[in-house]
Amino acid sequence: MAARRAREEARAAAGAPRCHRCNEPHGRAPWALYCVRCAEEVDASRQTERRKRLEREREEAARKPCQGPKCSKSVGLSNGRDRAYCSDACRRAAEYVRKRARTKPEPVPCRRCGKPVVLKFRDTVCRPCQKVQRTVARRVTLQRRVRKAHGDAGCSHCSAPLPEGGVIDHLIPISRGGLSTVANMRVVCVLCNASKKDQLMDEWSPPHLTLS
Ligand SMILES: [Zn+2]
Ligand SMILES: [Zn+2]
Ligand SMILES: [Zn+2]
Ligand SMILES: [Zn+2]
Repeated sequence: MAARRAREEARAAAGAPRCHRCNEPHGRAPWALYCVRCAEEVDASRQTERRKRLEREREEAARKPCQGPKCSKSVGLSNGRDRAYCSDACRRAAEYVRKRARTKPEPVPCRRCGKPVVLKFRDTVCRPCQKVQRTVARRVTLQRRVRKAHGDAGCSHCSAPLPEGGVIDHLIPISRGGLSTVANMRVVCVLCNASKKDQLMDEWSPPHLTLS
């Protein structure tokens, strides 16, 4: 009884219970925190907060990655319900990629080496193989011109007949500064070619001629 009286005395000393928000006496039960008006306002603001939080959660749940190439952003409900891109730039980039995929031809295996290549011209031969082909073509043309200029009926050094066609030899070897020109090249037999190696013409004579 003494404790209760003490509490009531303390409350009387503090005056009527006041609203915790506007600090006016609220005239309600002593345990009430707010006056009627403030209680309504607090309630309303709590509901608004809860609604906002739900909206945020829904937005987060609906987020999906942007479909733009190389874009790491995500697209939510605020971008529109069925938007796939975070921005116009991403939409245009994706369109460009799709268009390229449509117009780009499928790679085909190179006719020489089998590597898959995409080429518009020189059908189905990759670039390194094209280079090899050009080199081979140049060599064949040069050999033809050497045969035409100097003849290929017999060895140019020893006059031996060349039933298998002979090989091309440099009079001044490449290693001694000779050039791959028609003037410096002759059709010779295999024996002469193997024996002469990188000697000049005045350092060497056909061995199978001097022996016999
Ligand atoms: Zn109040
Ligand atoms: Zn994007
Ligand atoms: Zn190739
Ligand atoms: Zn010969």
